[in-house]
Amino acid sequence: MAEASASPLKHFVLAKKTITAIFDQLLDYVTEGAAFVEATYKNPELDHVATEDELAKIQAYKNKLAVIREVLSRRHMKVAFFGRTSSGKSSVINAMLWDKVLPSGIGHTTNCFLSVEGTDGDKAYLMTEGSDEKKSVKTVNQLAHALHMDKDLKAGCLVHVFWPKSKCALLRDDLVLVDSPGTDVTTELDSWIDKFCLDADVFVLVANSESTLMNTEKHFFHKVNERLSKPNIFILNNRWDASASEPEYMEDVRRQHMERCLTFLVDELKVIDPVEARNRIFFVSAKEVLSARRQKAQGMPEGGEALAEGFQTRFQEFQHFEQIFEECISQSAVKTKFEQHTIRAKQIIDTVKNIMDTINVAAAEKRVQSMEEREDQKDRLDFVRNQLNILTEDTKEKIKRVTEEVENKVSSAMTDEICRLSVLVDEFYSDFHPSPQVLKLYKTELNKHIEDGLGKNLAERCSTEVNESMHQSQQEMIENLKPLLPSSVQDQLHLLIPCRKFDLSYDLNCHSLCADFQEDIMFHFSLGWTSLVNRFLGPKQAQKVLLGLADPNLHIPRPLASTPSTASLPAITPENVPQDEFMIPLVLSLASLTSRTSMSIIVVGGVIWKTIGWKLISFSLSMYGLLYLYERLTWTTRAKERAFKQQFVNYATEKLQMIVSLTSANCSHQVQQEMATTFARLCQQVDVTEKNLEKEIARLSKEIDQLENIQSSSKQLRLVQVQKGMQRYPELLWSPVGNLQVAPSQIPLPRTEQKSSCAVLSHPVQYWWCQW
Ligand code: GDP
Repeated sequence: MAEASASPLKHFVLAKKTITAIFDQLLDYVTEGAAFVEATYKNPELDHVATEDELAKIQAYKNKLAVIREVLSRRHMKVAFFGRTSSGKSSVINAMLWDKVLPSGIGHTTNCFLSVEGTDGDKAYLMTEGSDEKKSVKTVNQLAHALHMDKDLKAGCLVHVFWPKSKCALLRDDLVLVDSPGTDVTTELDSWIDKFCLDADVFVLVANSESTLMNTEKHFFHKVNERLSKPNIFILNNRWDASASEPEYMEDVRRQHMERCLTFLVDELKVIDPVEARNRIFFVSAKEVLSARRQKAQGMPEGGEALAEGFQTRFQEFQHFEQIFEECISQSAVKTKFEQHTIRAKQIIDTVKNIMDTINVAAAEKRVQSMEEREDQKDRLDFVRNQLNILTEDTKEKIKRVTEEVENKVSSAMTDEICRLSVLVDEFYSDFHPSPQVLKLYKTELNKHIEDGLGKNLAERCSTEVNESMHQSQQEMIENLKPLLPSSVQDQLHLLIPCRKFDLSYDLNCHSLCADFQEDIMFHFSLGWTSLVNRFLGPKQAQKVLLGLADPNLHIPRPLASTPSTASLPAITPENVPQDEFMIPLVLSLASLTSRTSMSIIVVGGVIWKTIGWKLISFSLSMYGLLYLYERLTWTTRAKERAFKQQFVNYATEKLQMIVSLTSANCSHQVQQEMATTFARLCQQVDVTEKNLEKEIARLSKEIDQLENIQSSSKQLRLVQVQKGMQRYPELLWSPVGNLQVAPSQIPLPRTEQKSSCAVLSHPVQYWWCQW
């Protein structure tokens, strides 16, 4: 079996193994590529980086590769034997298989094709077309019987004969041998060709050397040649042992056969050049070879039987045929069985590479775009922050200025209004009566009148201007901050910052302000003691004088002490005596004056009495009395009201003046609050904008990272592995440079095993990597 172990058929076996491994890698590569494209396409943040079309394409390739992988694993070399009935086709097959596998010598038992292929089991069986049943056959006679007895077998059908690989070396190397019914027994050559010949790698025409090539045989091969491009045809001139009986004609006959066969192959079929053609024509005796090999297999000498002369030469020629046939079929099969698939694989790789390339470019473009966008957003964020700081300072200044203006305006308006308070009080009409209940009600209404009136007047003088100034300032704030906001927010700004009408509240609260007001509407005679003192010294000094504050020993007569005003004065105590140095001599002089006056009156009165007389005195007294009477009579309710109003005006003026600064400060505070609120709302919008910008920057950063990953992954997936091992199969014409470029990082090794790449490299099929 030494011949079998060195069989050129191994070339095909190894090529098949290699290409299957390559397709395994390709499948893994495209599977990973498809997963990558799918993940990229479905990533909602990465629009237009991978397209639906690319995804569909790569997924289709994945499926296609799986199918090709499956088809490749079932690929085998196929040789078909044709010739007339009893030319010795079955005998040739048996001789090649070293055993009597097919029945022979009884004519072709059926009109079926018999395909002999290897099985891993140790039992031979046959399967007929359209049936999964494995029919066991132990001997060739059983096979012949089975074929003969099977009534279902139609002419031209295919019967698979599975023969244990352990029994036959040839079958271990993926070789399928097909025996055919004689070309002379059929009229259905076309359907034969379609069914059995299109995938055959080699055709063997088994001719009977005892006769010449028949037209039926030639006709068949002409038809094959029409359908296939340059089929590999061998011609075995079988039964060459018969020529040994007439050795004198042997050389002539051989030359004659050779010439006819050459003419047929070279001139008629044009499938081969004349030099090569000589290596396709052999003169053999299948019967002898089979016999010799069977003997050898049984441990007996090859030439044990009585053999015709020239056996060794014929035997060697048969072996030579086998050698050339095996070389031819393996090379041809590698090409015909794998070429189309490798071309397809190359196309798929190119397309996948293009897809990765497109994704890489799209990711790069988008990344650049995103980086630019991120830079813009960062600039914008910086701009917004800086501008906001500047505008905040400006706005603070503005608010301060406006509030000061408002304070001054309100202060001046209020001062004016306080001066005109008497007018306002005069405008007040209500029932007046000195009784406490009526007075209380009167005061309440008067307070309300004053408050309303003052409020209204102040509003007329200030509010419009303040409102306008406020509105203008607010508009300025909005206009200043507007550029910091996105356009969508700018359009909505009037909704977000409603410019509501602002009303200053003066909040005078006259009622509580004048709660302590105490009117004095008792009658006071204008020439009365109190009035005179009041007139000369003023109300305050008069009170002190009248209460005798200057000297505790000084008794000051209190003619008017019964009046409510004086009676209601607070008790004088040493603590609340004023330390006014100016007042002391004045009061002392007045006190001495009064004590001396009584003496003087008596003295002067006596002198006057003597000089002027009692008439003048009585006249004066009468006038004084009349004046008193007049004044007393005119002290009506109306006069009391007037006095009341006057006292109220004085009192309220004093009180209101006290709250001028407070009220104006309050108003400016309101304005400040209003403006600050508006600014705060605007700032809030700017804050939202800042946050949105920060979010957008973070999103873009994430997107850039993802795009970077996609770029590196797509670049990684564009790494291609050059299958150097395939250079050993030049017949495949892998690519213009003779290399099949296959998958990158997806060698079907677990990661842990990948480090031992030497193991991969030491494989007969070597890999090396290059970056595309
Ligand atoms: P097939 O019909 O073409 O398959 O031919 P077979 O293999 O059945 O052979 C027909 C007959 O020819 C058988 O009796 C064989 O023994 C005989 N035969 C086959 N090959 C040779 C050969 O090389 N020399 C001789 N003398 N007889 C052969």
